[in-house]
Amino acid sequence: MTDAMVGDLVAALGERGVLSEAGDLARYEQGWRYGHGRARCVARPSTTEGVAATLRICSDAGVRVVPQGANTGLVAASTPDQSGAMVVLSLERLNQTIDLDVEDRTVVVDGGVLLSTLNEALAEHGYWFPVDLGADPQIGGMVATNTGGTRLLKYGDVRHNLLGVEVVLADGRVVSQLNRLRKNNTGLDSKQLFVGTAGAFGVVTRAALAVAPKPAQTATALIGCRDGAAVLELLGAVEQGLADFLSAFEVMGAAAMDAVFRHQQAVRRPFDEAPAYGVLVELATTLPAGVVDLDEILVARLGAHMRAAKAGVSDVLLDASDDFWQLRHHVSESLRSDGEMVAFDVSVARSRLPALTERVRAYLCEHHPRVWLCDYGHWGDGGSHLNVLWSRGDVADVAGLKATLQEAVYTMVVREFDGSFSAEHGVGPHNQRFYDAFTDDAVKQLCRSVGSVCDPRGLLGNVQLG
Ligand SMILES: Cc1cc2nc3c(=O)[nH]c(=O)nc-3n(C[C@H](O)[C@H](O)[C@H](O)COP(=O)(O)OP(=O)(O)OC[C@H]3O[C@@H](n4cnc5c(N)ncnc54)[C@H](O)[C@@H]3O)c2cc1C
Repeated sequence: MTDAMVGDLVAALGERGVLSEAGDLARYEQGWRYGHGRARCVARPSTTEGVAATLRICSDAGVRVVPQGANTGLVAASTPDQSGAMVVLSLERLNQTIDLDVEDRTVVVDGGVLLSTLNEALAEHGYWFPVDLGADPQIGGMVATNTGGTRLLKYGDVRHNLLGVEVVLADGRVVSQLNRLRKNNTGLDSKQLFVGTAGAFGVVTRAALAVAPKPAQTATALIGCRDGAAVLELLGAVEQGLADFLSAFEVMGAAAMDAVFRHQQAVRRPFDEAPAYGVLVELATTLPAGVVDLDEILVARLGAHMRAAKAGVSDVLLDASDDFWQLRHHVSESLRSDGEMVAFDVSVARSRLPALTERVRAYLCEHHPRVWLCDYGHWGDGGSHLNVLWSRGDVADVAGLKATLQEAVYTMVVREFDGSFSAEHGVGPHNQRFYDAFTDDAVKQLCRSVGSVCDPRGLLGNVQLG
């Protein structure tokens, strides 16, 4: 890797297409939560051909490349390592195409388009891309991480809404599978190689997506539950009879809600005293209010549940949907301000979430009395963020504590509870060690085989799947 290579990138992409001054690189070198490294330079192509040229130049020079979308990923996979030798390939300028086919209800979109930009364009036609979260990622980043989010229960993750992709392989070859077909059983569904694999097999330059009609109405409630068992009872109650409408079932532990109230003055405190769990339940439908009244249905269902399961439910709050979503979407950010943290994004069969949570809590009480658990997540699909915090400066050996906590919690999740060590955030340096430990050798062998075709020199991505 030499300056000549940066010169080649400038020749291919133009002056605006390459950043190499230290001051310009900083924001591409720091991840949202984890990941801090040093980049040789940042390449910012604005076309698929530019991405291909970048990868060809880097491949010829034997230089490793980390693709970067909006850099909101939470496993340190979008930033370079400490070597100062990697090129960051930012897709931020590849953001021109949003080609909606209204009749087909599909859209072809550049990999660097932000989710919010796509949704603004779709809203004019009554559609949205319903993978919804508290960050604003790029579409290519969403494909590479198979984003889940708060409405997975109704709409599925990115994989469920992805029809086709255009990708560029490590040596600059462009592979286009940009069809908009909903049905296509013609052998290997090769686009799946690029879903959730953190850019290790190719750079997503375009995606064809199925889009959904925007709901005509939603009904939202925030329900206080006294413990995890009561949360599960509530989930059963709203699914029974209302499953067609249920679009979110988001759970926040008391400590997570308190963190939001401490750090976000603008977020209204809905409960006088935070219950053990606050559960955000949302129903959504494209049927107009004249046909079904979702508010009425939700109130009736919750009323019946309260009468049947009074002991478990402390409050039912209605009519403040924006406040409830503000509370939910500010949890991650607030925990970041609350102290130091090691984050866990895990999933188990949802019936086992209360037992897992209590198991982790008991372990922390016994072995690490200075830390506290801030759990929240998508209980409807078995996901929970079992984040562990401590006051800044309270722990001398932070790296040692993080390693101990990761070892203990991931082992409980995977070995005792048959769960996943990464429910939706994917794989990256933050959890690479556990990918290595928990992933079947045959799966790694398969990844090596795919890698030998897509990226024979192993130059792409900041994660090792094989
Ligand atoms: C506040 C907050 C809330 C969040 N909530 C959720 C949530 O509810 N559910 C959820 O699933 N995630 C959540 N996330 C995580 C994150 O937003 C998602 O993983 C998101 O999809 C990452 O997209 P990005 O564009 O930011 O990608 P980046 O962070 O830039 O990159 C993520 C990974 O994708 C690769 N990559 C990026 N772009 C491309 C491309 N075009 N081609 C190939 N590889 C690429 C990178 O190399 C890296 O491995 C949250 C994050 C934050 C900060």
